[in-house]
Amino acid sequence: MLGGSVLWFRHGLRLHDNPALHDALEDPETPFFPIFVFDGETAGTKVVGYNRMRYLLEALDDLDRQFRQYGGRLLMIKGKPADVIRRLWEEFGISKLCFEQDCEPIWRARDESVRAVCRQIGVRCRERVSHTLWDPDTIVRVNGGIPPLTYQMFLHTVAIIGDPPRPVDDVDLRKVNFGVLPDSFYNEFVVFDKTPKPEDLGVFLEKEDIRMIRWVGGERAALQQADQRLAVEHETFCKGSYLPTHGSPDLLGPPISLSPALRFGCLSVRRFYWAVQDLFQKVHQGRVSSTHFITGQLIWREYFYTMSVNNPRYGQMEGNPICLDIPWKQPQGDHLERWKEGRTGFPFVDAAMRQLLAEGWLHHALRNTVASFLTRGTLWLSWEHGLKHFLKYLLDADWSVCAGNWMWVSSSAFEALLDSGECACPVRLGLRLEPSGRYVRRYVPELTHMPDAYIYEPWKAPLEVQQRAGCVIGRDYPPPILDHLGAADRNRAAMQELRRILDKAQPHCCPSSEDEIRQFMWLHEDPQLEQIANTN
Ligand code: FAD
Ligand code: MG
Repeated sequence: MLGGSVLWFRHGLRLHDNPALHDALEDPETPFFPIFVFDGETAGTKVVGYNRMRYLLEALDDLDRQFRQYGGRLLMIKGKPADVIRRLWEEFGISKLCFEQDCEPIWRARDESVRAVCRQIGVRCRERVSHTLWDPDTIVRVNGGIPPLTYQMFLHTVAIIGDPPRPVDDVDLRKVNFGVLPDSFYNEFVVFDKTPKPEDLGVFLEKEDIRMIRWVGGERAALQQADQRLAVEHETFCKGSYLPTHGSPDLLGPPISLSPALRFGCLSVRRFYWAVQDLFQKVHQGRVSSTHFITGQLIWREYFYTMSVNNPRYGQMEGNPICLDIPWKQPQGDHLERWKEGRTGFPFVDAAMRQLLAEGWLHHALRNTVASFLTRGTLWLSWEHGLKHFLKYLLDADWSVCAGNWMWVSSSAFEALLDSGECACPVRLGLRLEPSGRYVRRYVPELTHMPDAYIYEPWKAPLEVQQRAGCVIGRDYPPPILDHLGAADRNRAAMQELRRILDKAQPHCCPSSEDEIRQFMWLHEDPQLEQIANTN
């Protein structure tokens, strides 16, 4: 028996800031087996669109290439994790299984089954927290056994715990003794000698046009992207501001978001957090003290993870203690399909829904727009439909974060904007965020020649204008799915009714203040440093 250790990659697809990798390499003499197991669920592969599968495979390929530089490889195996671990033990007598915590409750059954096998065969499991800044279990414990109900309470709790840990050092792979799989493995499992394609795993392009590949998965691409993002942060700090993606949302620019890299762990959240905080200190030389606001969006991520940790029903309305039971309508006719496919007749919504299918990514402001439209704003359909669709197609699809945001936007939890129609109008929002109409024209080519004045309300264009634009409503582009203003009035009244009930309710999840609502919706003015100073 050779012994040895296994690093089981799930998320956390990187070599930098990887404490589980350190654990696995404690004894450099024994063989090291870095594995990824295609079990049909890990890393969000249960219901997955082509783009995210491609992104995941690129991330695995990047790890594989990095290991190959040192004479190893990433072992990519199709099977059940518990079976693979047991076989590695039978073959080599491995003694240690190392992995990064996947804190969401949806992974618990998988992890429990692996732990059970390890207990049986005497393999030690070492789990490390590095997907989040703080351990969600610790936050819940420090908060008295329940997750903090508001974001302010969350900030208060993490202030008690203290700063998140700094990233751990890189490992030296030069002397690593990479394990090699015996032939028997190839008979029992599908082992990929080179990184598979989505098609090899049964994931196919659904539409010919979903080929707008603008994102590249993998640690090395993510680190480069993070450097570019830090340059933008630097410029923003020098101008006396912060949160560069919020001031003026750029719906048309190149992909600069780090959320897919953070979701898959190609980029360490701690590395990004500390890089931004340190940069802020460097720019301001201690003249302005830094706060969580500078990295505020990362804290929302933590908050949603923590909210879900002991709540397996977090992704649904029924039986979910933090979700209000809102009497949503059943989808009528093809309303839900029209929303999913970008055929609602509201150009701003349709452009966004088509961008999601084409690229797997949407700006936060657009996510808010289409989520409001589906739920409390217009269609009055359950957010669960939206969550399902987003979880399939988003590159950064993340059960906790996505469900948390859907509950927020639909006022199902956190009761934001219960009675505000202001942020939900797909016409006004389009005009406000992207007056040129270029975004709509990019994703809804039927409207290419529609004049600016009608780009968000093409049904209002006189027939001859529609004819000249080559886009007759009802023939070339759908009429509005329903009368938006009428629907908004009815929905607002329904929400006000809910508000009355809530005023007498038990303590529950809610925003801490108006300001927080604006912050969440990215509707705040360009934040100035005096504001930061005031909050200290
Ligand atoms: P930045 O402002 O640069 O923020 C930095 C990082 O903080 C992001 O990369 C992300 O990891 C995190 N973050 C930012 N906003 C939020 C937020 N509101 N909640 C939690 N974390 C946040 N984000 C996901 O990562 N996965 C999802 O599945 C997801 N689903 C969403 C669903 C809806 C309905 C809505 C309204 C938002 C959703 N978001 C989700 C949050 C947000 O839209 C994206 O994280 C953001 O657009 C990423 O862009 P960025 O990297 O430029 O953000
Ligand atoms: Mg409930």
